[in-house]
Amino acid sequence: MSTAPGPVEETANSTAERTEPDAVPAGSVREEYENLTDLVRKYRFAYYQEDEPLVSDAEFDELFRQLEEIEALHPELVANDSPTQEVGGEVSAAFAAVEHLQRMYSLEDVFSLAELEAWITKAEAGVSKLGDTARLAWLTELKIDGLAVNLLYRQGKLVRAATRGDGTTGEDITHNVLTIKEIPTELTGTGFPPEVEIRGEVFIPSKAFAEFNEALIEAGKAPLANPRNAAAGSIRQKDPAETAKRPLRMFVHGIGAREGLETLSQSQTYAVLEQWGLPVSPYFEVLGGLPEILAFIRRYGDQRHNLMHEIDGIVVKVDDLATQRALGYTTRVPRWAVAYKYPPEEVHTKLLDIAVNVGRTGRVTPFGIMTPVKVAGSTVEMATLHNQDVVKAKGVKIGDIVVLRKAGDVIPEIVGPVLALRDQQKPPVWDFVMPTECPACGTLLAPAKEGDVDIRCPNARSCPAQLRERVFHLAGRGGFDIEALGWEAAIALTQPAEPEVPPLVSEAALFDLTPQDLANVRIRREKRSKGVATGEFELVPYFYSKGTAKSPSKPTATTDKLFKELEKAKTQPLWRVLVALSIRHVGPRASRALATAFGTMDGIRNASEEDLAHVDGVGPTIAAALKEWFAEDWHVEIIDRWAAAGVRMEDERDQSMPRTLEGLTIVVTGSLPNFSRDEAKESILIRGGKAAGSVSKNTSYVIAGENAGTKLDKAEQLGIPVLDEDGFRELLAKGPAPAPEATSTEPEEAAE
Ligand code: NAD
Repeated sequence: MSTAPGPVEETANSTAERTEPDAVPAGSVREEYENLTDLVRKYRFAYYQEDEPLVSDAEFDELFRQLEEIEALHPELVANDSPTQEVGGEVSAAFAAVEHLQRMYSLEDVFSLAELEAWITKAEAGVSKLGDTARLAWLTELKIDGLAVNLLYRQGKLVRAATRGDGTTGEDITHNVLTIKEIPTELTGTGFPPEVEIRGEVFIPSKAFAEFNEALIEAGKAPLANPRNAAAGSIRQKDPAETAKRPLRMFVHGIGAREGLETLSQSQTYAVLEQWGLPVSPYFEVLGGLPEILAFIRRYGDQRHNLMHEIDGIVVKVDDLATQRALGYTTRVPRWAVAYKYPPEEVHTKLLDIAVNVGRTGRVTPFGIMTPVKVAGSTVEMATLHNQDVVKAKGVKIGDIVVLRKAGDVIPEIVGPVLALRDQQKPPVWDFVMPTECPACGTLLAPAKEGDVDIRCPNARSCPAQLRERVFHLAGRGGFDIEALGWEAAIALTQPAEPEVPPLVSEAALFDLTPQDLANVRIRREKRSKGVATGEFELVPYFYSKGTAKSPSKPTATTDKLFKELEKAKTQPLWRVLVALSIRHVGPRASRALATAFGTMDGIRNASEEDLAHVDGVGPTIAAALKEWFAEDWHVEIIDRWAAAGVRMEDERDQSMPRTLEGLTIVVTGSLPNFSRDEAKESILIRGGKAAGSVSKNTSYVIAGENAGTKLDKAEQLGIPVLDEDGFRELLAKGPAPAPEATSTEPEEAAE
């Protein structure tokens, strides 16, 4: 790669050598160079002229680097019109060509912090040769992922706006730029030169982009691929009325022709631009050196997805204008600025297939299988496509080259197809069709209820895919926490290659398994040679060692561990057993709430839907799901068989407590001085009472602390006794006071 200040200018004009065939490397290097040059040109055209990139930025940057590397090794190859010598972009015939008064440049890119450090060190050395390092400060700012635009003001009036084009000549987009409200048609304040060129970036803010795309999808149109291309496409519309519909904004970050403007630094210039009414980005700082610049890069790297616009890096510029002038330019970039690019979050890859996965509750989800590709630090080969409507809205077909995005820790997303490449795909692309039958058990698929987008396999009990997912889930950290029962073990237990009937046909039998049941289990596994997959498969024993004549096959260490962990799982608290049952909507939070409120599995099973719904953190949807679940015989059988095998179905309670609250339903609301909410609930439960989350006519008492809200109002409406903390303590100790004889209606009568 090249680093600033670039040697390219000095090597660019060796035409004599180029016309001398023997002087250039023969054969493969030359061919490679020419192929690369052609590719870079082709990709630039699609990106700048058609606003429809054929490859991802990362792929383009890599090709550009390769070109720079070859040129560094073989300067004699470099032509004047090499892409490394030109600012990318041309002028489309759809727009009038306009000459910039002063050239527009691109930026030198670096792709790692080490390269940035090398660049800064070299630039500092360059400046110290000039003699004056005292003023060396770095204006550091966000690299806005938008489109460069040049505004020309004469006598303070906006007379022309143009794209960057090839740097010398741009496209006249004045009418379109006039639709962007924050760009002043007339400068305010004083002191502007008779003629001044202001450079900046036109972009679409991230939120507006998301909303704009949602509207497109709703109108049945294809969404735009990303804010940069959307901004470029929007500002280069033939009809300004169309541009006006797009949520475009602009930040200015530089000046071209400026005769008569007496600023000393980039930062001072920004202050002046702001006074003239131009939109200056709030995200810039003048920093003293590398450590501060690195901290700035880290900070904005972390916040990258919370900013108002997309960024693809950070730009670092020498702040002092005299030093900028002294350092000057190569044919393509200034020597006084550099762009650090963050690792790419968007890449292109081939969508090889769309398969479907049958989940734990039978939901059938399409997902894309792609050529593995590195994005935002990890290799991705699969991404969910949620449901058939999403596949349709994204417009992806199998065989497409797709844009894959992984923003930070967010799960990878297939953004959409690269339409421009579709016709060239071999074999041609084809539509994904959602299966009508479950791929695992052949049962007809159907939505759970009419109008649902998601479709499900209704064969919950014996669909092997659902069983596998449930077995994997019940062993998870939030469930029984059985480490030896991972994904492959779940497959081995529920769908081994051999024997035909797997050890588990229902999770009900999990705790009845014996090591002998697993002796003959084999799975199909891909053979590896020196760690590399060979594409050949073999059957291997899963739970037992292979065995030889001398040492017979026996359970592996992991299998021993599995049985130890199964034993331990029997003593897990009730909420974990609830999580393990895969009841729809019942996750760890609701399970804890249910276990705290009822204390036993029987209590939950026998509770009315209303009682369940009143538990804090449960509510009507979960209550209905619970009732539905317990109504199935095969579900109850799971609980019964687990219980028979010794799984604990109730939480340990202090038996020494007098059961003063037997039969009472108590709601705690507001904050009590000496009880946390959980302590208050626990105190009720261990005395035989029920702790409910909402007030109804069945509530026996409401305990109200500070800031008690609507629950207290409701208790008063329904005439339910309300106690403070002292009253609560007395209730815990002695139980309800006997009702005073025939006085219960008195207060109401008195009130009338
Ligand atoms: P660039 O985008 O890497 O950097 C130069 C541009 O950055 C400037 O022209 C300016 O408009 C912009 N910029 C944003 N914020 C700025 C700020 N605060 N200060 C100064 N300038 C700022 O260079 P480029 O020549 O415009 O484009 C090259 C890049 O475009 C490549 O690195 C690649 O990522 C992308 N590209 C992609 C394809 C493709 O096919 N995917 C093709 C061509 C170019």
